[in-house]
Amino acid sequence: MNEAKGIVYLVGAGPGNVDLLTLRALRLLQTCDVVLYDQLVSQDILDLIPRHVVVENVGKQRSFHPVPQLEINQRLVALALEGKKVLRLKGGDPFIFGRGGEEIETLKEQGIAFEVIPGISAANGVAAFAGIPLTHREHAQSCLLVTAHLREGSFDLDWPAIVRERQTVVIYMGLHGLDRLVVQLLEAGMKPNMPAALIEQGTRDKQKVVTTVVKELHRASLEHKLTSPTLIIIGTVVELQQKLSWFGHV
Ligand code: SAH
Repeated sequence: MNEAKGIVYLVGAGPGNVDLLTLRALRLLQTCDVVLYDQLVSQDILDLIPRHVVVENVGKQRSFHPVPQLEINQRLVALALEGKKVLRLKGGDPFIFGRGGEEIETLKEQGIAFEVIPGISAANGVAAFAGIPLTHREHAQSCLLVTAHLREGSFDLDWPAIVRERQTVVIYMGLHGLDRLVVQLLEAGMKPNMPAALIEQGTRDKQKVVTTVVKELHRASLEHKLTSPTLIIIGTVVELQQKLSWFGHV
């Protein structure tokens, strides 16, 4: 490895609560030269970055892409070639619906050194703070993580896998197009009264948990005026939420 070259750390910031950051992530935040962060990274975490570190917002929103992915990849390469210690900070875990794989592919091609630091993903972080166990001996033996991105007005998902019984389904990015998603879930054979939860700003001070059933998901999201980031959890484990909810109670 060329000594003059810098390094890129692809770091998961977790779901937003600052205490859920890994020690490795914190140490790197304090010693890097520049941070490129995403929309999803919470202000509390950005506040940990020392003042001398250069900070760039490359945040992406669904319909508003300030910096295209290709440019982010090229920016990481350029900074590393300048010899910088670059920290690429992403919400949750970089390898779970985070395009982290694509970013390091470019680095690999360019011979840039990199490290990947996992983060707590929305699924496990948000579920824990909402009081919803993702697996449970009496409810679910498996858990499926899916991303619901509308493509030409419909969702291209593995429906038979999603409607299987005794499992929990966690849907990332499911708020936009939720009306359509509910229609497709029911058409695929999902029970209309299957318990479901919508969790907005999970693990953060403003966390909001709405429990409902699948056929009512869209209506509930409108009624509670939910906005991004919101995670959807479907399965009978949601029934436990009332009993196991703890965050914000003390
Ligand atoms: N790499 C991230 C996911 C990025 S996709 C991870 O591992 O968590 C972005 C989606 O994640 C959001 O649309 C939302 O569905 C979910 N999400 C992330 N943080 C969240 C939070 N604090 N509360 C609720 N949902 C969250």
